[in-house]
Amino acid sequence: MDYNNSFIIPMSSPDITDLERQAVMDVLQTTSLSMGARILAFEAAFREFTGAKHAIAVNSGTAGLHLCVRAAGIQAGDCVITTPFSFVSSTNAFLYENAIPVYVDADPQTGNIDPKMVEQAAQDLLKGGSSAQRWLPRKGAEGKGILKAILSVDVFGQPADFDPLRASADRYGLKLINDSCESLGAVYKNTQAGRLGDYGVFAFYPNKQITTGEGGIIITDDDQAARIMRALRNQGRVPGDTWLDHSLLGYNYRLDEFSAALGAAQMLRLEELLQKRSRVAEWYNRYLAEVNEVEVPYVSSTTSRVSWFVYVVRVSPHFDRTNVIRSLAERGIPSRPYFSPIHLQPFMVERFGFREGDYPVTEDLGKRGLALPFSGLMTEEQVITVCSTLKDILIPR
Ligand SMILES: *Cc1c(COP(=O)(O)O)cnc(C)c1O
Repeated sequence: MDYNNSFIIPMSSPDITDLERQAVMDVLQTTSLSMGARILAFEAAFREFTGAKHAIAVNSGTAGLHLCVRAAGIQAGDCVITTPFSFVSSTNAFLYENAIPVYVDADPQTGNIDPKMVEQAAQDLLKGGSSAQRWLPRKGAEGKGILKAILSVDVFGQPADFDPLRASADRYGLKLINDSCESLGAVYKNTQAGRLGDYGVFAFYPNKQITTGEGGIIITDDDQAARIMRALRNQGRVPGDTWLDHSLLGYNYRLDEFSAALGAAQMLRLEELLQKRSRVAEWYNRYLAEVNEVEVPYVSSTTSRVSWFVYVVRVSPHFDRTNVIRSLAERGIPSRPYFSPIHLQPFMVERFGFREGDYPVTEDLGKRGLALPFSGLMTEEQVITVCSTLKDILIPR
């Protein structure tokens, strides 16, 4: 049954003001609908907010990750250490180049990649032979298997544990790519999310902290990488190329001016948007505190600020999550499994031979994770409705 029309609370909603709507409309009065002043303003806002030397706007987070993969020189048969507990595009970005995933399981508390296992995997891969073999997929991993990069993901808005990841990357000469698509504004110790790698990527799909409809941005301090990424997003044109000169094999990953105008306007309200989301998360924490049947999100001591992207609880293993989702839907409340482990997606099983049991923490979190309705626009009453409905389902009277 499709409950979509009967939900009393939306799963997520973008927070957009009249001024922001007007900023989009104003683009129509100009002659540049792509690659104009709004892109420059949007990129400048990111340089200012993050302190990064370069910001390169693109038309999705996935496109941004793909450009990082290209800039890192990751090629067919190269290995990338990453996590299967993520949205699928963090892996897809390097599969487009036929690189090989070396998955490391998640930390059971935060759901972020386990840095101790990353270190072990890097050590073993560089040793080669049977030590390396145990980290590689069962099939589809033929080739030289040169380890090139670590790709970390800031799960649900909480930064990965970067100090040890950075140390491993430096020790083995690897690039560190931060998929910070869920963590704009989060802080790890004293550093902004996205700033701890060689490259960081943010995304602006409508459920993200700020939105441009579709869109993404890459930040980096690396001049050479920034030059390559700017060229690749624009059909491989390097500075000096005319519209029909293409020095490199590139893509059309350009962000349009409407999206950039919305993004630049939203960036002016970032702090407000983050605070509203944080307030909603605190309501959830409060109203779920005494519900032992679900675990609320865990915040690590290395996280100085969570940038709440989604609110995901873990349902106790005694419950069948599918039934919980159905019961919530019957009462008008949408909810979703989150994440679905990447290694068990049909195309991954087919290509690399992954099986259930390969990454037990990821699979456990994948089975029990339940994303509840979440946005900065939710009212306390709505949060109470969700929490009391969930309680009624889990603890029938
Ligand atoms: C949203 C997101 C992306 C990028 O998604 P797009 O839809 O391509 O903008 C990448 N990784 C993670 C973890 C995400 O949540």
